[in-house]
Amino acid sequence: MAKDFYDILGVSRDAKQDEIKKAYKKLAKKHHPDLNKGAKASEEKFKEVNKAFETLNNSEKRQAYDRFGEQGANGFNNSGFGGGSFNAEDFGFGNMNDIFEGLFSGGFGGSRQNRNAPRKGEDLKVEIKVTFREAAHGVKKNITIRKKESCKNCGSAGGFGKKTCRSCNGAGEIKRVQRTILGNMVNVTTCSDCGGSGNSFEKICSDCKGEGRKTTTKNITVDLPAGVDTGNMLKLRGEGNAGHKGGPSGDIYVVVDVEKDKVFERDGNDIYMASTITFSQAALGTTIDVPTIAGKTAELKIPQGTQTHTLFRLKKRGFPNLNGFGSGDQFVRVIINTPKSLSKKERELLEELSNIESHEAPKTEKTFFDKFKDNVKEAF
Ligand SMILES: [Zn+2]
Ligand SMILES: [Zn+2]
Repeated sequence: MAKDFYDILGVSRDAKQDEIKKAYKKLAKKHHPDLNKGAKASEEKFKEVNKAFETLNNSEKRQAYDRFGEQGANGFNNSGFGGGSFNAEDFGFGNMNDIFEGLFSGGFGGSRQNRNAPRKGEDLKVEIKVTFREAAHGVKKNITIRKKESCKNCGSAGGFGKKTCRSCNGAGEIKRVQRTILGNMVNVTTCSDCGGSGNSFEKICSDCKGEGRKTTTKNITVDLPAGVDTGNMLKLRGEGNAGHKGGPSGDIYVVVDVEKDKVFERDGNDIYMASTITFSQAALGTTIDVPTIAGKTAELKIPQGTQTHTLFRLKKRGFPNLNGFGSGDQFVRVIINTPKSLSKKERELLEELSNIESHEAPKTEKTFFDKFKDNVKEAF
């Protein structure tokens, strides 16, 4: 349910105009967005206070509000906070469209000052999924995007037989200066006759319905360099939406999302993988083939007496640096596999081995506890 305007301003129903102004001035200062940067609650409160004041400060609107509530007051409200842009310029927040445009075209505000002036088209954001190996080697990707292009039918004008809009004299907006206790406030509304363009036409372009731009589907090729990672952003200058009124086109931002790989894990430009070897391979030493992101396998020498979880490094087998110089390494963690079932022959051999081991007294071998102490020393 909507809050009562009198409650919002903290005044009684029979409050005099002076009282209302005084209450408003106090609250407006308190909740002013410039003094409460980033506080959402304050911004909401500020809007609320303005709305309440706008209604109660106008005797006609106030009467309607008293009789019919907010809906009644809105009947008079063709240039109020909701319909127009009540001093939006003064307080630094325009309508939502302007804010979203501002996000990508560099800074807030400014864009509503002259709707007739050329403006840069909106930037677009596209996400591209690539496989792990595509990211390693670089890849060309074809993507389909929907974007606005200049209308060919009308040459982006929006219509034919251009003439100046009579309602706004070509300004595209209608300004009204209102005297309030906070000083002069400019009430700006978009000219409803020309939709803000400042022009009217003998004939509106039927292709673009007067916008001068048309939504089209386009295929573009994106060339991703070797070494890209998730979150990397690529700017395609001028590939975004066509500009307004002959302004420059926006850009496309391509955001990369690299899929996980079954074999490799990435950490910066280094890659990690695990390889399983047998107990006898670890004890005797061997050479194994390991996969690489280049495609071919690489030889990895396992020295005799290798312990499980030992990490080996293959230099320069990782991801290339995005800047083109050097690359990361490939790390292979060797895991020794203990067989879960044995053939008869294997069993015989292992039992024989076990017999030998049990007769070898580990005289010079340190006890487990001694080793533990050594490790602790090393760690600190
Ligand atoms: Zn107009
Ligand atoms: Zn057109």
